[in-house]
Amino acid sequence: MVSAEAEQAQQFRQEVRAWLMENLPEGWGTPQYEAPEPTTKEFHELGQSWLRRLYDAGYTAFNYPKEYGGVERPVWQIQIIAQEMTRTGTPPRPMSNIMVAGPTLLQSGTEEQKKRFLPPMLRGDECWMQGFSEPNAGSDLANIQTTAVRDGDEWVVNGQKVWNSEWQFADYSVLVLKTDMEAPRHRNLSYFIMDCKSPGFTMRPLREITGREWFCEMFFDNVRIPHENMLGEVNMGWYAAMRTLVTERNGSGNLENVDVSAGQGVSSIGGTGAIVEMAKKTMRRGKSLWEDAAYRQRIAQFAIESTAMGHSGARTAVKIRKGIDIGHEVNIGKHFGAERRIREADLILELLGTGGQLMRGPHSIDKGEYATNMLWVRCGTIAAGTSEINRNIIAERILGLPR
Ligand SMILES: Cc1cc2nc3c(=O)[nH]c(=O)nc-3n(C[C@H](O)[C@H](O)[C@H](O)COP(=O)(O)OP(=O)(O)OC[C@H]3O[C@@H](n4cnc5c(N)ncnc54)[C@H](O)[C@@H]3O)c2cc1C
Repeated sequence: MVSAEAEQAQQFRQEVRAWLMENLPEGWGTPQYEAPEPTTKEFHELGQSWLRRLYDAGYTAFNYPKEYGGVERPVWQIQIIAQEMTRTGTPPRPMSNIMVAGPTLLQSGTEEQKKRFLPPMLRGDECWMQGFSEPNAGSDLANIQTTAVRDGDEWVVNGQKVWNSEWQFADYSVLVLKTDMEAPRHRNLSYFIMDCKSPGFTMRPLREITGREWFCEMFFDNVRIPHENMLGEVNMGWYAAMRTLVTERNGSGNLENVDVSAGQGVSSIGGTGAIVEMAKKTMRRGKSLWEDAAYRQRIAQFAIESTAMGHSGARTAVKIRKGIDIGHEVNIGKHFGAERRIREADLILELLGTGGQLMRGPHSIDKGEYATNMLWVRCGTIAAGTSEINRNIIAERILGLPR
């Protein structure tokens, strides 16, 4: 007998599926679909318009109160939405908005800041970036040297930041800046919102191994930020920044975007179902790789991990919903998700054979998407805190191992 809950869930799943079929860009998921190259204007517009559609349908912005533009839904519905999106593989959304800037604004912003910035951020009408890292402040974030000096109702900013993602079309950036030159570490930083059109602010692209310019360097030459754009109190920015890192790690590690995040989730390439399909299509010595028990075993391992991480992500989502602080569990998810995406990308290339490794040319598969993905996913072990730093946190703060 099917329980009323199961029936309700099934009905909702059908609803989400129908909505996706109707709203995904035309041809999405078919070999004919020409996806725009990441970091181009077309790519940005695709992501933005997708976020708007999701938002207008109530399929995103889950853990924000209604008065700031949030969408309220029970966790089981959020899970189904996330699962269905992973199954179809949906267009990427601007990540910094929901993973980075939104949760910190919600937690540390004034009423005015929340009302002004959250609704357009959640809908993708305004896009954000993150200015934390500097040439000598990555893992050691407390070593930030870009300064902000108070001048009346404004702060004057000078210095440089680096590795800033989603920069080309950002309207605003969150920044952590040194505001006290004498105070000890962690008590000398403040958190700001900066309009990216501010005079004196410039950006220079950085090209990564995929050939794309996903991130940039930021330069500040007497940039003026109004005091009202400070998030939280003067010299308390470190604590807000730590908050940002928790939600960012949660977003980048969480399975299939189960919570507020717009992260890639554990799977980078359409989930385990997509790998199964690939194995079924790949023939070796007259048999599909799906018929090979060794490959099936490896793919099954991904399915097991997805399920385990799905449950873990749901637990985190429930905690967020109940206002319980999410803590170090996000380090486990982030670390595991980043390492898993690499294993997954490598397995896919193995399944596809030599054609999968080609970035371009007549013998490349899907215009080199999988080869590019194999190169790209490596960055997950660096972004939002490296795997080494995450292992340290897990060892010391979760397992209580000695330093
Ligand atoms: C794809 C991507 C997107 C990013 N986007 C942004 C962004 O939008 N905004 C932003 O501000 N930053 C961003 N970053 C920067 C990112 O936060 C930093 O690269 C990261 O924190 C590591 O800092 P680092 O590069 O300075 O490396 P370092 O801190 O110099 O580390 C170098 C190596 O030393 C190891 N190491 C350092 N300290 C320790 C330690 N105590 N114990 C053990 N090992 C250690 C590290 O694990 C690493 O292997 C992004 C990075 C990537 C890859």
